[in-house]
Amino acid sequence: MTSTRRSLLKTTAGLGATAGAALLGACATAQSGYGSAGSPLFSLPAVTVPIVGSNSTFPVRRIYCIGRNYRAHSIEMGSNPDREPPFFFQKPTDAIQYVAPGTVADHKYPTLTKNYHYEVELVAALNKGSGGKKIEIDQALDLVYGYALGLDMTRRDLQRALGDEKKPWEIGKSFDQSAPIGPIHPVSNIGHIGKAGIWLKVNGNIKQNANLSQMIWSVAEQISKLSEAFELFPGDIIYSGTPENVGPVVRGDVIDCHIDGLPNLSVKIV
Ligand code: MN
Repeated sequence: MTSTRRSLLKTTAGLGATAGAALLGACATAQSGYGSAGSPLFSLPAVTVPIVGSNSTFPVRRIYCIGRNYRAHSIEMGSNPDREPPFFFQKPTDAIQYVAPGTVADHKYPTLTKNYHYEVELVAALNKGSGGKKIEIDQALDLVYGYALGLDMTRRDLQRALGDEKKPWEIGKSFDQSAPIGPIHPVSNIGHIGKAGIWLKVNGNIKQNANLSQMIWSVAEQISKLSEAFELFPGDIIYSGTPENVGPVVRGDVIDCHIDGLPNLSVKIV
């Protein structure tokens, strides 16, 4: 019995050593594989947004969005605007749908929803931020390269249902083409936008109508707060929240968005 156990142990130890050596060999092979100068199996399209007055385009690294950043919108979403610290979520970078000024882009009604909502927002685009951690509020605007007009399109029914179930509302917010955006206007041309009218019309009827000065957390404060959670880099863009009176659209509706000083952004739901 004892000898059997010992021989078993011996055998196992032997197997262990052999398996270990084999694993090391596999690792070494894999490592030398990683070290070789391979080319990607396929290339991915870069996500870029045109820049007004420039031949360059703005490469998008990450899309951050702030939630409930206007008092009246926070209330309509069932939150307490006085107590809530800012919170953020992301959309996938390729959720960008570029919309050229003066055009009406077809925007596909997405799958899975019966309550598809618009949210008009100012977008800030960052071009500095290497080492962009814990950025002070009074230095935060130095990171902003420019601004754009954007839509944070939302499958509201899914966002609400998943939130009610305490599940991530990822598919309510972070889906294909959920981030229509106009061109980026460099700060060097238009300065910083602090106080400006922002509105959205559906089929010519005004739905959202507010002022950027009504943000609970300013763009500078958003950048500062965001940089506590993430190191910010050039190419990051921030959707800065939507005012009150978000609402649904259906196929055939035309959405017109506006921020004072920027050309309008228009999409047709198809
Ligand atoms: Mn939003």
